[in-house]
This record gives sequence, C-alpha cells and structure tokens, in this order.
Amino acid sequence: MSELPLRAQLAAVLGKGAASLSRATGRGDGSVIGGKIALKVEPDLLAQLSRGRRLALVSATNGKTTTTRLIASALRELGPVATNEHGANMPTGHITALANSPDAREAVLEVDEKYLPQVLEATKAAVVVLMNLSRDQMDRASEINLLAKKWREALGRSQAHVVANADDPLVAWAGMGAHYATWVSAGQRWKEDSWCCPECGGHLKRDPDPHWECPECGMRRPEATWSVDNDADSVVDPAEQRWPLRLNLPGDANRANAAIAMATAAAYGIQPAQSLPRLQEIRSVAGRYTSVVTDGVEVRLLLAKNPAGWLESFAVLDPPRVPVILSVNAQIPDGKDTSWLWDVDYTVLRGRRVFVMGERRTDLALRLETDDVPFELADRVSDVVAKVKAESPDATKIDVIANYTAFQQIRADYGRVQ
Ligand SMILES: [Zn+2]
Repeated sequence: MSELPLRAQLAAVLGKGAASLSRATGRGDGSVIGGKIALKVEPDLLAQLSRGRRLALVSATNGKTTTTRLIASALRELGPVATNEHGANMPTGHITALANSPDAREAVLEVDEKYLPQVLEATKAAVVVLMNLSRDQMDRASEINLLAKKWREALGRSQAHVVANADDPLVAWAGMGAHYATWVSAGQRWKEDSWCCPECGGHLKRDPDPHWECPECGMRRPEATWSVDNDADSVVDPAEQRWPLRLNLPGDANRANAAIAMATAAAYGIQPAQSLPRLQEIRSVAGRYTSVVTDGVEVRLLLAKNPAGWLESFAVLDPPRVPVILSVNAQIPDGKDTSWLWDVDYTVLRGRRVFVMGERRTDLALRLETDDVPFELADRVSDVVAKVKAESPDATKIDVIANYTAFQQIRADYGRVQ
C-alpha cells in the first residue's frame, strides 16, 4: 500500500471507510459501495492496486464464486491472498478486495464475464481461469458468442496463462486466444448453447462426449492434461496420477471446479498433494450448499441462476423421497425476464414432492404444469418444513433450489448463514 501514490492511498482509505459504514448499517457486506467511492477518487486505482502483485482472474457463467474460493484456499500455501470472497465481481469489488489486503502478493478475483477484458487489461493478471459459458438471465446464445470473442481478443493482447475447460467449446475457443494454456477436461452438462462452431458457425460434431470438433473448419477440442472422472470421484493430473476428490461440496459441477482449481494451483507450483486437502476443507461458499437444521429437518440451500445452473442442481438433489422447494424471483440481479425457466427440463422432478415459492412462483408453476410435474405453492421455507413434518414426522431433509435474490431472502431468514 505504501508504494501507491498519495491520491490512490486516499481513495483506498475512503473506500474502506464507506465499506465499514455500509456493513455497520446492515446494507450488505460493503464491497460494492466501498469500491464505488474509491473509483470516483481514483479511476486508475484498480491498475495501481494490482501493481507488484500476481493476480488470477476467474470467470464463467456458473461456479465463479466457488472456484475463486477454491483457488484462493489453495494459493494460501504461498502466503496471504487478496480475494473478493463475497462475490462482488465488478471493478468496484476488485478495488475493495485489493485495498483490504495491501500486503497480499497473491490475488484471486472473481470477475463478471462482461468485465473480464477490461479487468484483465487494467490488472495485467498473470493467470485467467475460465470454466463455462451459457445463457444467463437475458443473455441468449448470440450474446455469449460475442462475449467469447471479446475474451479471446483480450487474452491475445495479454501475456496471461489461461487455465480453461477444454470440454466447453466456447470457453476453449476463447482460451485458444491466449499465448499459454493449461487445458482441463472438466465436463459440460448443459450443451444447448454450444452446438455451433464459435469460429465458423458450422454444426459441431460432439461425439463421443466430451470430444467435439467442427467438420467445416477443423477446429477441435484441445488436448487436456487434467481431467475429471465423475464416476470415480477423482481428478487425473498430467502425470496420470489419480487423486480421489472427496469434496464437501456436492455434484459434478464442484468436481469440475475443483479440477480447475487444482490445475491452477499447479501452475503456481502447488501440487495436488498440497492443494487438495485445502479444497476438501470447504463446506459452503457464501451460503451455497449450506444446511440449516430447523425442527429436526435439514434444509440444504442450492443457488442456481440460469438453465445450466438448474440442470446441475437437479443432478445433486437427494433421493426422490426428499422434497424440493424451487424459488424464483425476477428482480434486477436475477433478470426481469423469466422466460429462461422454459429452457430447463423439469421432468426429472416427477415422483418427487415439489414446492414452488418466490415472487415469480406462478411462472414456475405454469412451467411445471407443462412438464406434468405436480407441485404445491408455498410462501416460506418454514411453512414447508412445518407441513412436511406434520404429514411425515420422520422426514429429515428438504432441498431448496433458488435463484439469486430468492436465495438471499431465504439465507437472510436463517441469519445470513455461511
Ligand atoms: Zn468451424
């Protein structure tokens, strides 16, 4: 911090003050407001705060917050790490994260997909980690193609080492723009946004999974040196050594996140024997995957913001006898348009007791009806717990899948559980 010009130091201090104030007044964790004030004072602050540090930027449609957390944990092998662990993933949040850890030489920043090019340019990050790209909120396929193009061009202008998922064609194509790359076969469950070649628009040949190639221009999946084996719950490293994962986070999506984190750590010289135990310690990330026990029922919270996220969440649901609550809002952070609900296949929920909640529960209800999935309307998680408990006294679990603000409301009901 002491190497920063006076004006930047002042901006960082002001930003920290505002963040503390925001936290103290209960208006959130303060990451955004703190950064906003700092940016007004010193627009170049992000670049200045990045100087003399080694940064990794993490971006994707899904899994950014979790993967950032995993990588930051692994890199603590090297010393203190600056990171935006509360998920404030735009430049204001980055400024706050860096200003709060002036002495950390390492930094791991979650970056909103749209901001990646400008944050990469400002920070001159050494490492860029890319996992997946799919439609989100209002975005549609054409927009994410454009996003991938901007990533590719930004990587081409930088010297960053990219660690990327070879199995996601859009991500791989973007990553091919980098001068240095580590490819991870991390899998891709949601394929609806990547049937076309990002290079020429040709129809991709995607068989056998996870292989893909374009018969028109010849672009193909890069050879991966790391891979996830979901069936065996393990990761295979470049020396073909197999590492049983045994994570405390559920599902294939988190196995993918962990494989990417291990490959990233290895790029820093931290081998799986050191990084994996640190990943295994993590049980929840900003309330995601956390469980609250209420009236003897374990309520597990899953955040899913878009079709790909819902698909991953369905895959980690408990056995069908466990009821599930689906909660959907359509506030600004969620996207006002709920038409994405129609992109998800709900038929896997048949045979399970389903409750629908949230401000847009009628949109969801209509969608479930179309898929012949019986459902019940609910107002609050506690009402569902009481109802389930009254009807089946031996019930022990309920899963909750909610989109962003719906998730935060439920989390707030339980005291902002971590
Ligand atoms: Zn092609």
